[in-house]
Amino acid sequence: MGNSEEVFVKKAFKTNWIAPLGPNVSGFENDIQNYIGNDINVAALSSGTGAIHLGLGILGVGKGDEVLCQSFTFSASANPITYLGATPVFIDSELTTWNMSPKLLEEAIVDRIKKYKKPKAIIAVHLYGMPYDVGGINEIAGKYDIPVIEDSAEALGSTYKNQKCGSFGDIAVLSFNGNKIITTSGGGALLSKKSDYVDQAIHLSTQARDDAPHYQHTKIGYNYRMSNVLAGIGRGQMQVLQNRVDARRRNYGYYLENLSSSGEIEFLEEPKGFYSNRWLTCILTPSFEIKERIRLALLRENIESRPLWKPMHMQPIFKDNLNFSDGTSEDLFNRGLCLPSGSNLTKNDLVRVVSNIKNILR
Ligand SMILES: *Cc1c(COP(=O)(O)O)cnc(C)c1O
Repeated sequence: MGNSEEVFVKKAFKTNWIAPLGPNVSGFENDIQNYIGNDINVAALSSGTGAIHLGLGILGVGKGDEVLCQSFTFSASANPITYLGATPVFIDSELTTWNMSPKLLEEAIVDRIKKYKKPKAIIAVHLYGMPYDVGGINEIAGKYDIPVIEDSAEALGSTYKNQKCGSFGDIAVLSFNGNKIITTSGGGALLSKKSDYVDQAIHLSTQARDDAPHYQHTKIGYNYRMSNVLAGIGRGQMQVLQNRVDARRRNYGYYLENLSSSGEIEFLEEPKGFYSNRWLTCILTPSFEIKERIRLALLRENIESRPLWKPMHMQPIFKDNLNFSDGTSEDLFNRGLCLPSGSNLTKNDLVRVVSNIKNILR
C-alpha cells in the first residue's frame, strides 16, 4: 500500500458508504479514465474474471459460439467463455511478444468460417505486462469484423506506441487482484470507448434491475459491482501506479544486467514502440532440466519462482478444444521461469536471487 489508501477507506466508513456503489467507486472510475484516456468509459467491478464474463455477454457471445482466445495465458482469460455456453478455440503466441500470433489468428478465422461459422470474439492478452501486437491483431480483427476483448489484467501501466494498454479493445479488462501491479485485494474493471457497453456492464453487474419502483428484470443479472470500501484502496493505489511500474522495471533491469552475460539466459526484450510494466520478470533457460534445477535451487533457499503460464491448449480441462499452435507457447512453458518480481524487493533480495541462479549455471 501507499500512503493514501487508508484515507479513502476511512472516508467510506465515516460517511457510512459500505456498499457496491458510492463516491469512491465513481472516484476510482474517474482516476482510471484520467489515466487511460478521456475517450474511455470505465465500470469498476468485483474481478477481472467478472469483467471478461460481462464483456463477452455484451458482445453477444452465447451458446454454440466460438471465441478465439490466446492460449498462453492464465485460465481466467478463457473460463468465462464457457460460462456462456460458448467454446474457446486457442491461438498460439509469437516469439516477439509471447502473445497472440496474428498469423495463427488469421489461420484460425479462415478455418472456422470454412468449417463452422465466424468466431464471435477474440480475446488477446498483454501477458506479463508486454503488450500484444495491437496493430497486427486489430488489422486481422478488422478485416473479418470480429470484436476484440483486450485482457489487460497484467498490463496496467504498459503502453503500445505511447498509448495506454486498456484503450485498444472493443472492450478492455483490468484486474486489481492481490497479485497484480496495483490491487484492491480483489477487483476489476471493464473499459470501452463505447459508453453504451459500459452502461450495460454497470446495469448487468448490479442484478439488471429495470427502471421501476418494484424489482423487475428483463435480463439475467450478476452481482459484479465493486464495493465502495475496496474502491477507496484503488484510489490510493492509482497514486502509486507509476512508482510500482518503475520498481518492477528496475527489477527487470537488474536481472537483465546480471544474468544475460552468461549467454544462457534469455529475456523478452521490448520491440520498438512497446513499453512493458514488467509485472513479472521472466527468463528463458536453455532447457526444461536447467529450468527445474534453477527453480528447485531457489526453493531450497526459500525463494519462490514459478514456471510460465501453462498454455490453455495443454490444460486437462481444455484438452478436447481446437487449437492453432506451432509449439511456441509449449516451449516457453517448458523453458521459462518467472523470477521474484515484487515492487518491494530490496537490492539484497535481487543479489541473492541472481547469485543462486549463477551458482546453478556455473
Ligand atoms: C488475473 C488475471 C485475470 C483475472 O482477474 P481477476 O481479477 O483475478 O479475476 C484475467 N486474465 C489474466 C491474464 C490475469 O492475469
